[in-house]
Amino acid sequence: MCGIVGFTGAKQAAPVLLKGLYTLEYRGYDSAGLSLQTAGGIRTIKTKGRVEELESKVNAAGEIESCCGIGHTRWATHGAPSDRNSHPHNSMDGTISLVHNGIIENYLELKTMLQAEGVVFKSDTDTEVVAHLFAKCYHGDGVAAMLDVAKQLRGSYALAVITADHKNEMICTRRDNPLIVGVGEGENMIASDIPAIMAITKRFIVVGDGEVVRVRPEAIEVYDKHGARIEKEIQTVNWDIQGAMKGGYDHFMIKEIMEQPKAVRDSIASRITADDLPDLMSEGVGAELFRDIRNIHIVACGSAYYAGLAGKVAFERLAKIPVMANVASEFRYSDPIIDKHDVCVVISQSGETADTVAALREAKARGATTVAIVNVLASTAAREADHVIYTWAGPEIAVATTKAYSAQLSVLYLLALTAAGARGTLTPDEIRYYCRQLKRLPDEIEQTLLCGDRMKELAQLYYSSDDAYFIGRGIDYMTVQEGSLKLKEIAYVHSEAYAGGELKHGPISLIEDGTPVIALACDPELYEKQISNIKTVKARGGRVILITNGDYAIDPDLCDHLIKLPACPWFMTASLSVIPLQFLAYYVGVLRGCDIDKPRNLAKSVTVE
Ligand code: GLU
Repeated sequence: MCGIVGFTGAKQAAPVLLKGLYTLEYRGYDSAGLSLQTAGGIRTIKTKGRVEELESKVNAAGEIESCCGIGHTRWATHGAPSDRNSHPHNSMDGTISLVHNGIIENYLELKTMLQAEGVVFKSDTDTEVVAHLFAKCYHGDGVAAMLDVAKQLRGSYALAVITADHKNEMICTRRDNPLIVGVGEGENMIASDIPAIMAITKRFIVVGDGEVVRVRPEAIEVYDKHGARIEKEIQTVNWDIQGAMKGGYDHFMIKEIMEQPKAVRDSIASRITADDLPDLMSEGVGAELFRDIRNIHIVACGSAYYAGLAGKVAFERLAKIPVMANVASEFRYSDPIIDKHDVCVVISQSGETADTVAALREAKARGATTVAIVNVLASTAAREADHVIYTWAGPEIAVATTKAYSAQLSVLYLLALTAAGARGTLTPDEIRYYCRQLKRLPDEIEQTLLCGDRMKELAQLYYSSDDAYFIGRGIDYMTVQEGSLKLKEIAYVHSEAYAGGELKHGPISLIEDGTPVIALACDPELYEKQISNIKTVKARGGRVILITNGDYAIDPDLCDHLIKLPACPWFMTASLSVIPLQFLAYYVGVLRGCDIDKPRNLAKSVTVE
């Protein structure tokens, strides 16, 4: 999430930091700030809003002599976007200033401990805890303090600190969030991403998980998590700045596809207890919510609706609660039968989708308890719902969603397991088993990402086809609808998604020699039925790409191409089987020369009816 930048050298730091922050804007953010070491102590300037507004504030502050400082663009996770929640956050005496990207999962525990020791907090962020903790651990050596702090933190973070007493020195560390050190001549930088250092250098060191770095103008010292000095390889960027923003990928979409393991890991990590049970209590969502309800209504648009459909299958099969899934634009005008006996779950990446927000208001007005699954903090849906469960996918830049969709799925699984616990439809041990599997899901997603090259080859074979058909049954039917949407929106290819058993009722007449048919067969309940449906397609000349998992023996005549996914519990297969479909849409789009990140006629956040 978002951006860190730091500079130490001989020139004025503020302009370098601002330039760095501008180059990090593409990552998405809601506030910006910087701290500068000056002869009179640390000066911090920060604001809600754009880097431009920060620059005006810095200019209005007059000449500030400083050759070392840290800057930040914040994408709020804990505490609404506001001036006081913006980073940097400082120690009570102002001698320590810190910026952070990520989430501190045990912030409440640490905050309570620090408050008991007399620390007064100025913000609602998880980050401020780290500033005070650093102050507590700091006895003149920044590296020692950072090592000590890191031991006490849970969650994901990149951190950078300056102190008033060590001129021209920055200390940084990271865990599961990106951080590099830019290696210049008599000047060095730290940054979340390569574009931010390109003003001074193309050479950089990648900070490893748990490593702590002391950065001075003339020296960069890297320490491992035990405090031992280590040598790091210096790498050189050979991309231009545009390429650098995409982390070397050609498009944000492919970058975000590759970020899915992290999006899912971040969305579930703090929501499974040490005892392997789902825990959404900090969102106010516990067993009570589901115990006595009649129905669940899931309401969303586009991909979020397809995530909701997969959620419906999980809720119904695991918790035995009837679920109505609706597209928001229909729900809001359908005079919906929903009242205080029901729970309405709305899903929206931006939290601003006009139809979804209107549906949420409709459900609320009729007395239902509302739960919003959104990615953007303090967005309209997040503010208006009774409960909000954030997906921690980080900012999504590509218009077509990938990582936010995956994060939505993982939150829906946790909700369905919570509901199953409440209704007693699964035993605690069964729930524990699923939670343990859920913790492994990011690794399985990682493994599934290896099919990217294979999907690229298949895209080459089929990209000129003007039609494609997707078939699936059970939970696979929900995923093929998302896969078909992706192909339409990214590659502008006409495609249809059907429940495997529906083909024979009409669409089978469209299958002829060479028609590409993408068939999922991952739902174990329906595997054999789906195989029969695929055979019917094959018999009519369809070219079948079969995506399956498990240890089924596959008849070689069944398909033209076979993609095998890792095995996992049936409802989680939705998180794996969507990945080859995302790749397919992406590579077909690239081969057809489409504008991948900004497809025609589409907007990232659909704020109109
Ligand atoms: N969790 C922190 C906050 O809400 C940092 C968010 C970020 O990565 O920008 O302030």
